[in-house]
Amino acid sequence: MVRTRFAPSPTGFLHIGGARTALFSWAYARKNKGTFILRVEDTDLERSTQESVDSIIQAMDWLNLDYDEGPYFQTHRMERYKEVIAQMLKDGTSYYCYCSKEELDEMREAQRARGEKPRYDMRCRHNHTPRPGVRPVVRFKNPVDGVVVWDDLVKGRIEIANSELDDLIIARSDGTPTYNFCVVVDDLDMQITHVTRGDDHVNNTPRQINILKALGATLPQYAHVPMILRDDGQKMSKRNDPVSVIQYQDMGILPEALLNYLARLCWGHGDDEVFSISQFVEWFDLNNISPSPARFDMKKLYWVNGQHLKNSSVETLTKLLQPKLEQLGVVDLNRLDLNAIIELVKSRSDNLNAMAEEVHYFYQPKIAASEEVEKHLTSDANVILTKFAEALSTLNEWSLDAIKATIKEFCSVNNIKMPQLGMPLRLKLCGTTQTPSFDAVLYILGKNNVLSRLAA
Ligand code: GLU
Repeated sequence: MVRTRFAPSPTGFLHIGGARTALFSWAYARKNKGTFILRVEDTDLERSTQESVDSIIQAMDWLNLDYDEGPYFQTHRMERYKEVIAQMLKDGTSYYCYCSKEELDEMREAQRARGEKPRYDMRCRHNHTPRPGVRPVVRFKNPVDGVVVWDDLVKGRIEIANSELDDLIIARSDGTPTYNFCVVVDDLDMQITHVTRGDDHVNNTPRQINILKALGATLPQYAHVPMILRDDGQKMSKRNDPVSVIQYQDMGILPEALLNYLARLCWGHGDDEVFSISQFVEWFDLNNISPSPARFDMKKLYWVNGQHLKNSSVETLTKLLQPKLEQLGVVDLNRLDLNAIIELVKSRSDNLNAMAEEVHYFYQPKIAASEEVEKHLTSDANVILTKFAEALSTLNEWSLDAIKATIKEFCSVNNIKMPQLGMPLRLKLCGTTQTPSFDAVLYILGKNNVLSRLAA
């Protein structure tokens, strides 16, 4: 039975890199009919906030990454960590260390002076006589010889010599467990079979494996996913780049488009660029992830988003656009045939905000740019529009065919070309010349709206 987890630290918003890790973990569980767990790693009390927990959960919901267990919180599991520490002290896989900060500094100084890499020299492992008044830390007895080896599903075989690893502190002097230790106990208790995480954690893995082994655990498989870089190859920064998932929601990106794009960043299925999430789940496998860092291309994301918008049903888009239209001040959406408007504009935008703007001018003409007014609403054009309004007012049947026929006849009788009518007409009706075909616009607006906007 496959059991995977996403284990964010609630010290900020859900980052797009985190979302991609969550996606891979989630997809692997779904593909294998396994269990996906959300675990909040909130032991860093100073940096963890409830606001961050809420925003991470909100972002997971928006992305539709549903979890079967959790959220579990590490802060709720303190008793369990302490129990395991006590057990490890008892079975001799860990020990009390009474070294003071000064002593450790001195030790490292001496090691540096000898040209050695500073590391704990295990003095308390061999002689841990309690010192009065000193509250000890607990250290793990890391194996002294040999190597830690694992076959990373993304990075391939990794080998680390135990001589590179310190006797890790697993409990601080106040008894609180440390980060790597909590992760180990959680992965063990939650029977995680596949650990997917950012490759910034790769250095923690050998330490965690050693502790897992000491606890007699079956090791999970590891998949360390590469970083997402900016398109110039630099690290993304909170200040300059949209790194939070919710920012993409605000930008009018669809959750499935964001996931599609994030997946595609370091994973591929032939030339397929646009796919549904269920299709992705079918194709995905952890060992198909590429180990090299990927570059984020905003234009490409918008393109993928445009494709998903085009493939979305009118009902779905209506639901998504309604709140945005209300925000833009449209009160009575039923005034016009919203479905027909969306059908007409849906392949014209690569994001929901732009699409909402397109729908909006049907309800409320834009304020036309003065250059456009100057260019298209000349006195000649106004004469044409007045005449055209007269022609329309005599139309009994307001159908697309009848409108098309009227336009054709009007242009031929008045000896003008289609754009001579179309451009000023669009500008007058919608406040912009960038609209879909104007016969369709006329039809959707309806006779009354058209005549009153032309008269305005
Ligand atoms: N809490 C870690 C993070 O947010 C993830 C640790 C893990 O997945 O093992 O980076």
